[in-house]
Amino acid sequence: MKGTMRGVVKTAAGEGHLEIKELPIPQIGPNDILVKVHAAAICGTDQHIRDWHPWAQKRMTPPATIGHEFSGEVVEIGDAVTSVKVGDRVSSESHIACNTCQTCRAGHRHVCPNTRIVGVNHPGGGGFAEYVSIPEEIAFVYNDESMPWEQLALMEPFGVVVHGVMASQVAAKTVAIIGAGPLGAMGVLAAKAAGAARVIVVEPNEARAQASLARGADYIVDPVKTDPVQVMKELTDGIGPHVAIDFSGSIPGLTAAVQYLRPEGLLTSVAHPSKPFTFDLTEFAYKGCSIKGIAGRKMYETWEDIRGLLQGGIDLSSIISHELPLEKFAEGMGYMDRGESCKVILHP
Ligand SMILES: [Zn+2]
Ligand SMILES: [Zn+2]
Repeated sequence: MKGTMRGVVKTAAGEGHLEIKELPIPQIGPNDILVKVHAAAICGTDQHIRDWHPWAQKRMTPPATIGHEFSGEVVEIGDAVTSVKVGDRVSSESHIACNTCQTCRAGHRHVCPNTRIVGVNHPGGGGFAEYVSIPEEIAFVYNDESMPWEQLALMEPFGVVVHGVMASQVAAKTVAIIGAGPLGAMGVLAAKAAGAARVIVVEPNEARAQASLARGADYIVDPVKTDPVQVMKELTDGIGPHVAIDFSGSIPGLTAAVQYLRPEGLLTSVAHPSKPFTFDLTEFAYKGCSIKGIAGRKMYETWEDIRGLLQGGIDLSSIISHELPLEKFAEGMGYMDRGESCKVILHP
């Protein structure tokens, strides 16, 4: 497609440098599709890009259009595209694996060391724009019109949550969910939908903890006003939960979890701490406990689990707290900086 569009661009290295720019509409290759973006969600990664966090410094070469959580309508397809058609409603995986390295060939594309990321270092641009070009392979087609664009834009972060929940085998188990921010909030919904018997949310923010109850959590634990190890034991006949899924990256949250997990319990790390975390491995190992790291979404098994949960009627409407026009992206990031939001949606 010819013409120009508006997009949010990281214009230079360093802190800040995020601007709305008039840009050429991205071109598509034979295996790509052009998506007209209807909704995009702001992620912590976008804040890292704004703040020029080391994660972003390592991966980005400005100028680059940002945004990797979005939904939209397919308006153009490449000559070789077979599984997506013009008019399809899509969301998208954000990772583009190389498909040729040993990790990819072993079936582990979600941890491919050569991954490119939409809205970070992908030449087709990002989702904070009117249009984005993506490979057919990463499109998630979901043509059910009862699914609002705003919720369809959440599939990428919802996917990392679903990956963590499915890897934790929560059915009929007692599950601790650490953190009730956007990921933990979706974690409560996904754990319940996947058959968790009891969900116990550990969250110091009173409003976020209360909102978890409305999403189906059975108990909330305040880890600041109470001792989470003691309360968790009290809630579980003294033995502890089967699984703790960390959506907070909080070191005190992880430290408590390795102590309150029951023998043969599993700690699943979905949001990873930004600093090293030390704990008593000997005690943990003598309990037979395990730790599982979660990176991205399994490509593409997790996407089929997402489809199943959506078809089962999971309701993500409560995850969206703000909707703004694209131009107000900085205002949206401000709500997130201050912990005043759940997910913030931008409309190009
Ligand atoms: Zn994200
Ligand atoms: Zn690879």
